[in-house]
Amino acid sequence: MNTHSTAEQLSTREIQALDSAHFIHPFTDHGDLATRGARVITRSDGIYIWDSEGEKLLDAMSGLWCVNAGYGRKALAEAAYEQMMTLPFYNSFFQTTNVPAVKLATRLAALAPKVGDRSFEHVFFSSSGSESNDSNVRMVRRYWDLLGQPQRKVIISRHNAYHGSTMAGASLGGMSGMHAQGDLPIPNITHIGQPYFFEDGKPGETADAFGVRAAGWLEDKILEVGPDKVAAFIAEPIQGAGGVIIPPATYWPEIQRIVDKYGILLISDEVICAFGRLGHWFAYERFGYKPDLVTFAKAVTSGYIPLGGVMVGNRVAKVLIEQGGEFNHGYTYSGHPVACAVALANLDIMEAEQLPQRVRGEMGDYFAKRFLALKDHPLVGDAETCGFVAGLVLVKNKQTKQRFNPDDAVGMICRGHCFRNGLIMRAVGDRMIIAPPLTMTHADIDELLRLIHQALDLTQADLHQKGLI
Ligand SMILES: *Cc1c(COP(=O)(O)O)cnc(C)c1O
Repeated sequence: MNTHSTAEQLSTREIQALDSAHFIHPFTDHGDLATRGARVITRSDGIYIWDSEGEKLLDAMSGLWCVNAGYGRKALAEAAYEQMMTLPFYNSFFQTTNVPAVKLATRLAALAPKVGDRSFEHVFFSSSGSESNDSNVRMVRRYWDLLGQPQRKVIISRHNAYHGSTMAGASLGGMSGMHAQGDLPIPNITHIGQPYFFEDGKPGETADAFGVRAAGWLEDKILEVGPDKVAAFIAEPIQGAGGVIIPPATYWPEIQRIVDKYGILLISDEVICAFGRLGHWFAYERFGYKPDLVTFAKAVTSGYIPLGGVMVGNRVAKVLIEQGGEFNHGYTYSGHPVACAVALANLDIMEAEQLPQRVRGEMGDYFAKRFLALKDHPLVGDAETCGFVAGLVLVKNKQTKQRFNPDDAVGMICRGHCFRNGLIMRAVGDRMIIAPPLTMTHADIDELLRLIHQALDLTQADLHQKGLI
């Protein structure tokens, strides 16, 4: 804790006034923010954060899906300090390199499992998930150009996907609210439906049958666009920001069959799912598919410093590097030495504490068992987990699975009760989602579930009083 930080010297009201006057927040309604005032987060430790009023909150979202190793890691601060004192910055353009970037690329290549004929020997660095997906668009188009198929430009994505907030990232994403602002998507990006069984499964249809049907939308779209015009398909292993949409087990194998059949590239956006979140270093391993490009960011540094990148599979790397000449693309901070040094220290922690193995093993089982028991709560229509991500859907009628009217904003009501009672849980429409730090102990999981139960009970009473149930 730094008692000399600005937050400690100004009152909460003063900070909120300055915040409102000067700071444009991402994804925020500023009229609303001005009347209510932002919550000022001042410090953290382990799985907890504290606000400027001294309130302690269990952060079940790991910041924004990134603080996988938990807060308060001195080793990460020391790695940054040492690297800043040695070489705070140098670029990787013009035939120069730096040791942390080389070490990190080597280490990530060793961590990314080979699947079938795909291996990952190369890494391209950026500073965020959005930038990484912009780089993917550049690399995919360059790849097909070099192979003499420049007409292959179309990238297929999914509705309700999240791939970042830059022009290309937001276009690849399938968030209608984002597309509505600023003439998006950009040309040659198109979307298919998401594999959300609870919403789109037909009466009597099994989850497995639905998974195959949902993957089939990709083939329909390829045929509609023209198979010789499609460059790639991009998807998150599990949709995170879309509300933790976990596809049925049949979905990914069928997607793999289709991308293989038409020879199109497969981009796995693992900005949330990699680095132990689903119990593996990379999530394609869990689902057993074979991506050509893997986007990462967030937990590669446990969020302590911005870093992102793309694992470039041998199929693409061979063409891009061996045949490509100069690729006119890159960022000032590609391979930033401080970010890479922090990432290396973060991977040290994850390896020493076996965080992916914990999630894959007994701790993940315990988390699943406790979270899935929420299905018995009267407000919960369904609950699902995969590794250390989990989501539940709030329903008006448990028997008929009748959903709430979106205008009733029940998710936001529930989120409010979480916040006021010491828990960070995110609302996406009527879905309540979490992605806790991978360091959670049995006692932490018990406490988390106690807080979720309490918030659901308070929400139920509140909705009853409002006449919504
Ligand atoms: C967060 C996220 C991004 C964007 O990452 P930024 O670092 O915010 O640019 C991209 N893809 C997925 C799947 C994400 O969850």
